Amino acid sequence: MSEKENKGITVKKSDNFSEWFTQIIGEQGANLVDIRFGVQGFIVHRPWVMHMLRRIYDYLEEEVEADGHEPMLFPTVILEDNLLEEKEHAGFMPDVFWITKAGSETLEKPIALRPTGETLIYPSYALWVRSISDLPLKGYQSRITVFRNEKATRPFLRGREFMFFETHDVFRNHKGALKQIKTDMKIMDKVVWRKLKVPFIFFRRPQWDKFMGADDTYASDTLNPDGRRNQISSTHDLGTNFAKAFNIKFRDEKGEEQLAYQTCFGPGIWRIMAAIIAIHGDDKGLIVPFDMAPKKVVIVPIYKKEEENEKVREFCRKLEKHLKSFNAHFDDSDHSPGYKFNHWEMMGVPIRLEIGPREVQEDQVTLARRTRKEKEKAKLPFLKKRIKAAGKEIDTDIEKNASSYFKNKTKSTKNYDELKRIIKEFRGFVKTPFCTTKMAGEECADKLKADTQGAYVCGTPFKNPDRPKEGDKCVVCQKPAKSIVYVAKSI
Ligand SMILES: [Zn+2]
Repeated sequence: MSEKENKGITVKKSDNFSEWFTQIIGEQGANLVDIRFGVQGFIVHRPWVMHMLRRIYDYLEEEVEADGHEPMLFPTVILEDNLLEEKEHAGFMPDVFWITKAGSETLEKPIALRPTGETLIYPSYALWVRSISDLPLKGYQSRITVFRNEKATRPFLRGREFMFFETHDVFRNHKGALKQIKTDMKIMDKVVWRKLKVPFIFFRRPQWDKFMGADDTYASDTLNPDGRRNQISSTHDLGTNFAKAFNIKFRDEKGEEQLAYQTCFGPGIWRIMAAIIAIHGDDKGLIVPFDMAPKKVVIVPIYKKEEENEKVREFCRKLEKHLKSFNAHFDDSDHSPGYKFNHWEMMGVPIRLEIGPREVQEDQVTLARRTRKEKEKAKLPFLKKRIKAAGKEIDTDIEKNASSYFKNKTKSTKNYDELKRIIKEFRGFVKTPFCTTKMAGEECADKLKADTQGAYVCGTPFKNPDRPKEGDKCVVCQKPAKSIVYVAKSI
């Protein structure tokens, strides 16, 4: 692309987040996806984003394996009968793509492209689980995609084919299942907050908003800059519902047959990527945690006089080799230094080294960090150490920014008119007293959604939820409040 064509991002994130997001993921931004594939909701992932997505998978795989999960790979297709086996889960039907033909022959029974893994995996689990010694059974599938017939699609937020990761666990009792839900929350904390710096709240969803076939759903929500919640994971307490449907039973110590308890955990790979782009990025482009960056260092030569250029170039080449462990890249393209600065800032490369004749002469580099304005000089013998330290500083900057961003995104009110006004004007969560998150509260949630043009009751935080004070009334129906819930619009 010529310098003229590459306009960069032309809108401010704070002015028009939606357009900013479209621009940053596209060709005029960081070139993460190609949406010209030609089938709605199916997109091409380009190399830069693939490197980052693979890091997310790496982190998750490491954590779930440390927690005793084993890798598995199931086929992409599900038998129709299995998909319908669990009564409530059959509610997925409108979202399912079907294979109905093979060559010119019409299949006797159509087969579904997996929309998620439960009905794909549990018929096998029924064969594998025999006795109490088979439990707990913990398996996961990674680096796969699933298919859903979504109407409105957007890269990383909603797709007809999107990246997937799922664990599926079987326990002898409910206690084991509940313990796993806490572990899943800890894994989210370790990977998504501590490594990727994406802040979120781990909610227990209201009963009317749980996964089809689950007893309870726990989900992590972060917020996009436009105030819409982005669900980045869910853990489902499946109780014995699927065990009943698929006959997952074991013989206990007394030799009696028991139904198994199950959980499944799905961090949203795409959604986490969307949150990293949306929350950390700025008007210059992507900002990513140091370890996640496909290239951690870019080397930009500043050529001054023709006779010195080869010396500078030679120095840069050596530097690139020296910094191979950081995937350093020497940008020797014909573009101007200013163009290169902008380009690599757009791509979110954490560290830029500027090399001119002076740096060569003094055996040092000028180091710039993606998250800070000031530059510094670094002597060559200490450079690797300095880069590592700068990487940590960049992560601290990202974490601080994300933390204060998220802290300022929650307001509270007990008044319905004020709640409606806040939802309209303010971008974020609103904490408010609510009658109940059991099924009886659905009517109030529906009214709230209608009155606010689409705000959802996200639920109550799993960890340290606020309790209603005496006299607190449901913000909608004025009955005594049993919960303090979070409300937000959704993507
Ligand atoms: Zn109510």
